[in-house]
This record gives sequence, C-alpha cells and structure tokens, in this order.
Amino acid sequence: MYQDTIAAIATPLGEGGIGIVRLSGTEARPIAESLFSGLLQPHHLAYGHIRDCDSGEVVDEVLVSYMPAPHSYTKEDVVEINCHGGPLPLQRVLELVLRCGARLAHPGEFTLRAFLNGRLDLAQAEAVLHIIQARTAASLRLAMAGLEGNLSNLVKELRSRLLSLLAYLSARIDFPEDEVEEQDMAGPLSEALRRIQELLASADAGIIYRQGVRTAIVGRPNVGKSSLLNRLLRRSRAIVSPIPGTTRDTLEEVVNIKGVPFVLVDTAGIGHSRDLLESLSVERSRQALKQADLVLLVLDTSQPLTTADQEIINSLAQKMVLVVANKNDLPHQADLSGLSCPLVYTSALSGEGLGQLEETMINVVLGGQVCTSDHLLVSNPRQKQALEKAAQHLESALAAVKTGLPEDFISIDLTSAVNALGEITGETVGEELLESIFSQFCVGK
Ligand code: GDP
Repeated sequence: MYQDTIAAIATPLGEGGIGIVRLSGTEARPIAESLFSGLLQPHHLAYGHIRDCDSGEVVDEVLVSYMPAPHSYTKEDVVEINCHGGPLPLQRVLELVLRCGARLAHPGEFTLRAFLNGRLDLAQAEAVLHIIQARTAASLRLAMAGLEGNLSNLVKELRSRLLSLLAYLSARIDFPEDEVEEQDMAGPLSEALRRIQELLASADAGIIYRQGVRTAIVGRPNVGKSSLLNRLLRRSRAIVSPIPGTTRDTLEEVVNIKGVPFVLVDTAGIGHSRDLLESLSVERSRQALKQADLVLLVLDTSQPLTTADQEIINSLAQKMVLVVANKNDLPHQADLSGLSCPLVYTSALSGEGLGQLEETMINVVLGGQVCTSDHLLVSNPRQKQALEKAAQHLESALAAVKTGLPEDFISIDLTSAVNALGEITGETVGEELLESIFSQFCVGK
C-alpha cells in the first residue's frame, strides 16, 4: 500500500453533464469528509455540497461515492466526487482536495496502483488502455476479453506448468538421480510451444484490429484520391477539384472496415512542386508514405500511365501496396499488366468497385486470414515480442532435451521462457517497462 493519496480529474476536460474528481489512498475519505457536507457510506452515492475548507464558500453541488479498500478499482480507499461537468468546478474541487493533502496523480497512476496492489495483472492493465482507445466495436470486444483475463489466464497456466518442470529439473540437479523419478520433458515442452505458436499465429491480426492500419492514399494529382477518400468515409471531407494539386495538406480520417480501423491519409500529389507550399506538402506526403502500413496507389485508368505514375510506383518498392485503378467508368487507356500488386478497379465518381476495394484492403492486411476478433488474444507488439522470446527459449530447451544435454542447460532456457511469459502478465517486469506502459494512460485513469 502507498502512503500518499492521489487525486485527479477523471473525466475529459471541457463542458459535459458531469465531471469526476477521483481520489485513491488512505486519506481519500478524511480528505473528502473535510470538504463534503453529506455523509459518506460505503458503496452509496451521497448528496451534498463541496465547500472551500478555508472560506466556507460553496463550490459545487455534488454526488459522492465512497468505495473502501479492497473493493475498489485500486484496491485502496477510493472516493469519486461527481461535480457539474465544467472545467471550473472540477478544477476548483481538485485544488481543494490537493490543498487538503492529496497529491496530483501521474498519468495512469490509478491503474498502476490497481496493478501493484494485485487487482489487475499487466495484460489486463494494458487492456484498460485499449478499451479507452478502442476505435471499432471489434477492437473494444478484443480489449474487453483482455480485461476479463483471457490472455492472462492462458499465459499464467502455461507459466505455472513450465515452473513445475523447472522445479523437477532443479530436483534432478540437486539430488542423486535415483531419488527423483524421471519425467518426460519433451512432451510438455512441445505442448507449451505449440500453444504459444497458436497465440503468435493470430497476434498480427490482433494488433491490426487494435492499432489499426495506417493507410496512405497516393497517386499523382487529379487521379481521384480525394474522391476515393470521401467514398471510403461515406461523406465529403476532402476537397475534390478538377484543378491538379488541390490537396495541399495531408488529411487523416479513421474508417471502420469490417472491424479494422484504417487510418486513411490522403496525401497531396507526390509530383513536381511548383511553389513552396506545395513542396512542403509534398514533403509531408513522403512522411505519410514512410509511416504507412498500407499504400493505396491510385491510378487513372482513363489515361496511359505517365512517368509521374512510374516514379511513384518505383518509390513504393518496400511497401504493402494495393493498386486502385480509378475512373473505371471512362474508357480504358492505361496498361496495368506489368503491375504485380493486388489491383481493384473502381469509380470514385459512381462508387462502383468500392465494396471490392474494402474487401481487398481487409484481405491484404490480414493476409487472407479469416478472423473473428473473438479468438484473438494477443493485441499488442509487447505481448507478441514476449511470446516470441518464450517460444525461442522453449525451442532451445526442447533441442537440449532431445540431444540429451545435462539438466542445467535445459534449466537455463526454461527459466528464460518462464520469465518471458511473466513479462506479459507482469510477474517479471522492470520499472522502466512499467513506466513506459502507464505513461500512455491519461491522468485520472
Ligand atoms: P486528387 O487530386 O487525386 O485528389 O483527385 P480528386 O479526387 O480531386 O479528383 C480529380 C477529378 O477527377 C475531379 O473532377 C473528380 O470528380 C474526378 N474523378 C475522381 N474520381 C473519378 C472517377 O472515378 N471517374 C471520373 N469520371 N472522374 C473522377
């Protein structure tokens, strides 16, 4: 348990129906009682007023809930003051609780305490962040499964099996052979490896559902990039104009395609810049392209391919590219037979081919895997890396068993595998990693 009591505004800043100031720690209740006119009762909402403890002035009319340890989010005493949802009442109530002895919470500190007090493991704490950040119903479902412990339970079970193998190995090392009955090692090790590989097989899809796919829409001016963006968004966001080079800036919008959030970035035409503004936007387009996971290369099929098209095609060598052969409503002029990427014919003008384009975008990023978000358990690169590490060590341990190497060789790899699994749920985790995970949260969570 921590000695200090933390406080923060737990709701977004701005005007809203209600806003909440949250406190957690041993002093949460006395601090709240020194300001609140009502009577706090465990797990009840109490009505009253918050008064300035020095001047006696009424600051806000509130409802206050009190959740005593350990039955709270942090497993500490938690008080939540429901204020009127405006920046000023919230700020003033926060100032008062700080004046009465609370300390301003760091980002994610409530959830960090929940983790350190054993209320959540690390994978579940990350799931809390993913719930807050979810951009589609599918990614929310994935995050909720994480919070319910689907991945944690599996990893903990695997880890405890490996720990018992480790205990057996230690016994074999410490005691004469005839005192410890021989156990099969290869079977349980292969089984653990198989289950980790199963988790890894769907990890990329899980990460894609959660993080989304950065998708750059590129092509020379006037091929229909902005029209395509508007079609995919089903509304008019980008300026469409017959004058080449109208899109001077990059636009970013999230579109949900079959549960996967695609972050679409419309880039200004990567072509020859005529002025400073245009050359700046061209630079931004190049940046957008560099960061993109997927590139929609838009070509105008009603004209022969130009050298500008060819230059853009050449610049995409390292990228995952999907060719959008646009203006399919007009007579064909372009010869696209030399292109080796997946290709979809569209008309951004009429909407023809858009369904096929969405389908292909999903297939390209999920590698043709048909995925329902229900069986995806791994959803972030950190978890994937830890599983890969565990798999590598298990493979070495298994090889050591098969070649009949001494127990301590096997034990070294098995210990590393156990530790790697512990990184997922947080049993073995350094302060630096905790810091980097929890700093992604907002203050008040
Ligand atoms: P961008 O410069 O690549 O963003 O292109 P825009 O989306 O601004 O479109 C340029 C012009 O092409 C506009 O006049 C659009 O109406 C037109 N356009 C876009 N897509 C199509 C299409 O599929 N068929 C036809 N016929 N015209 C299109």
